Amino acid sequence: MKFTAPVFLVSRVLVDLHCHTRPLSQCSALSPLQAAELARARGLDAICLTEHDRWWDEAELAEISAQAHIPIFAAVELTTDLGHVLAFGLPRTAAPLATVEAAFAASEAAGGVLFLAHPARDGLLKVDHRTVEYFASVEALNGSDSRLQNIAAAGLAHGFRLPGIGGSDAHMPAEVGRAATRFASPIADTTALVAALKFGDYRAEYID
Ligand SMILES: [Zn+2]
Ligand SMILES: [Zn+2]
Repeated sequence: MKFTAPVFLVSRVLVDLHCHTRPLSQCSALSPLQAAELARARGLDAICLTEHDRWWDEAELAEISAQAHIPIFAAVELTTDLGHVLAFGLPRTAAPLATVEAAFAASEAAGGVLFLAHPARDGLLKVDHRTVEYFASVEALNGSDSRLQNIAAAGLAHGFRLPGIGGSDAHMPAEVGRAATRFASPIADTTALVAALKFGDYRAEYID
């Protein structure tokens, strides 16, 4: 189902779906506890950690979540031949996932869903014949990209079966929660997040 009428999204369930923390993402200055606490302080309802090609231990995340008093979900940002891919519901695997074909096969086997991350970041929309086949949609709003890049990404999202997602792509404290995805219903855990993403009742939003 493709969401088109904002008036139906009466609940306020905001989740930052794209965030990096160290040590799993060495490029980040954020600890997971810090990211979660900042998300909570900024009024978000949950945060999803998406480390570069690395998976979180769910039990470890549950502990940090309890400390920060906010749900923390886990996904992964894969580095593939078609760019960065946000994979939800994809378990840790020993197989290399450097191609979208491999990532899609693993995701389908696990019941996951893939979104092309920041598709307009390099000044070029990353679209080829594989794009619509492998991705449910794209990241329509990335907090690290410019407004113009996000306009292009949001336009691209219209061509997919699901709406585009939003996330901060935070690597620094000030960046946490500057963009997010607003869901129509509460989300209890990562499994529920995957189901909500597949259902499609959400939209990407900037957070002021
Ligand atoms: Zn990326
Ligand atoms: Zn990222």
